[in-house]
Amino acid sequence: MKVSVLGLGAMGSGIARNALRIDPSLLVWNRSAAKSAPLVAAGAHAAQSPKAAALERDIVLSMLADDSALEAVLEGPDGLLAGLAPGALHVSMSTIAPATAERLGERHRERGQRFIAAPVFGRPDAAAAAKLFIVAAGDPAECERARPLLEALGQRVFLVGERPAAANVVKLCGNFMILSAVEAFAEAMALARKSGVPAAQLVEVLTGSLFDCIAYRGYGSTLAQERFRPAGFAAPLGLKDMRLVAQAAEAQRVPMPLVGLLRDHLLETIALEGEDIDWSAIGRTIARHGGL
Ligand code: NAP
Repeated sequence: MKVSVLGLGAMGSGIARNALRIDPSLLVWNRSAAKSAPLVAAGAHAAQSPKAAALERDIVLSMLADDSALEAVLEGPDGLLAGLAPGALHVSMSTIAPATAERLGERHRERGQRFIAAPVFGRPDAAAAAKLFIVAAGDPAECERARPLLEALGQRVFLVGERPAAANVVKLCGNFMILSAVEAFAEAMALARKSGVPAAQLVEVLTGSLFDCIAYRGYGSTLAQERFRPAGFAAPLGLKDMRLVAQAAEAQRVPMPLVGLLRDHLLETIALEGEDIDWSAIGRTIARHGGL
């Protein structure tokens, strides 16, 4: 199986490293070319453009910041659409709007190319350790074709239907729930701390009893220790996701009042702390509101 990876950011670099185990002739491309160097040192080959990365490949994975980055990589004379052979498969792993996934699927279909969406849960350390949870959707035959590759990148692959957009909906629902958990934990932590209970003690009790799950355990200790830099998931990307949740909710006529609160807390955090902080730093903003 000949594979390429487009986008070597915090997530894509770990994904590419693991894809090398499936295809030792892996091609990689990144807008800022310097990020290819560690992958090239590990045995991959750097392509000069998305088109060059797609030529004569079976599967091209993309892991880019957002909808506009993905569209920029797809279109134009040097874009992915121009290079991917008929019958070859694009697996989109970025967190993008469900509507964008539908549109991209259509663009590929017009050219006889295949497309599935496979966004992920898990932070850069999980990407590097091949421990991602991958949510895939699209033509079942194409999902099966991608399965060996996806299984090399993650600890579990979920299939959620034949429409690629379904995977992006599930991903957005998950990120909405993660940030809601951070919000709830941070509010509770502010109350505990102001009442004289150390944050670490609150985390120990709650994650050792009723809230014993990955999201509360991971973000509970991050909040207690205020480990917000370097960002694992940068606040501007979280803001992008809350915007996508709000858009999808409006399109489906589903009121989601919490999204507005989460968005405002992210916005305030970015305004006060800068763009390079983790999205869980809304906890610092919440603590500040409480006079801490
Ligand atoms: P990141 O470190 O900021 O990397 C973003 C990537 O997108 C880089 O390769 C960047 O290229 C590229 N890019 C941005 N704008 C571009 C443009 N206009 N044209 C071409 N390339 C462009 O982000 P990340 O953390 O890897 O996240 C990637 C995706 O995974 C996002 O959709 C994010 O929501 C999702 N995700 C992230 C996490 C996480 O914890 N980090 C977890 C799950 C899902 P340059 O290097 O040239 O800037």
